[in-house]
Amino acid sequence: MRLVADYHTHTVHSHGKGSVDDNVREALRRGLKAVGISDHSMAHALYGVRRVDEYLADISRAKEKYAGRIEVRTGIELNIIGLDGSVDLPQGVFDTVIMGYHKSAWCRDLRTMWVFSTPGFSGRADEITRAYIQAMRRHRIDIIAHPGYGVPVDVKTLAKACADYGVLWEINNKHAELGPEDLALAASVGARFVIASDAHSPENVGCVPAAFSLARRAGLGAAQIANVTEE
Ligand SMILES: [Zn+2]
Ligand SMILES: [Zn+2]
Repeated sequence: MRLVADYHTHTVHSHGKGSVDDNVREALRRGLKAVGISDHSMAHALYGVRRVDEYLADISRAKEKYAGRIEVRTGIELNIIGLDGSVDLPQGVFDTVIMGYHKSAWCRDLRTMWVFSTPGFSGRADEITRAYIQAMRRHRIDIIAHPGYGVPVDVKTLAKACADYGVLWEINNKHAELGPEDLALAASVGARFVIASDAHSPENVGCVPAAFSLARRAGLGAAQIANVTEE
């Protein structure tokens, strides 16, 4: 399998090291057909994008500059901030909406904060899974970022909901908390996948060896992954 697009990359607008332009140039160098800039949304206490207007303008400039050579997508990595499925979607038009849990994001109420941050009580994975599903119901979400990273989820239930709502299950090169058996279970209920670098440095854009290895061990084929082709 070969990667044709990387929809999940960070820049200096959140806590990446490179500029939008740096990420696009690396994606071009690797022969990708599309690259997504997906910096953290505002609830991320340390790294959330502060000037969304500047962020969007910067990506717009790259879209124009590289038109005809590579597709540059305006993305955002939302935080789930409520058990009711609340997310921190900013104003703006986005080509790719990614959503996930991050421990540095503020929560909209104490109960959510407690459930997200307190390990060890029964039913936690169920409550968190329900929150993810509520978010998919209430908002347009294209990709669930790194499922299982930071908080437990019920893989089968979440994967079935992803299949029902047409949301892609991310296989993240940096955060691979789930094993091949979890991905195989997700696939068995119809989930489709996307492989992502989650690059925080330009040189890591399009670099996904760990994610590929995991996909292979799970027995996934190119037809089940949105952004690869058969070699
Ligand atoms: Zn993330
Ligand atoms: Zn990320």
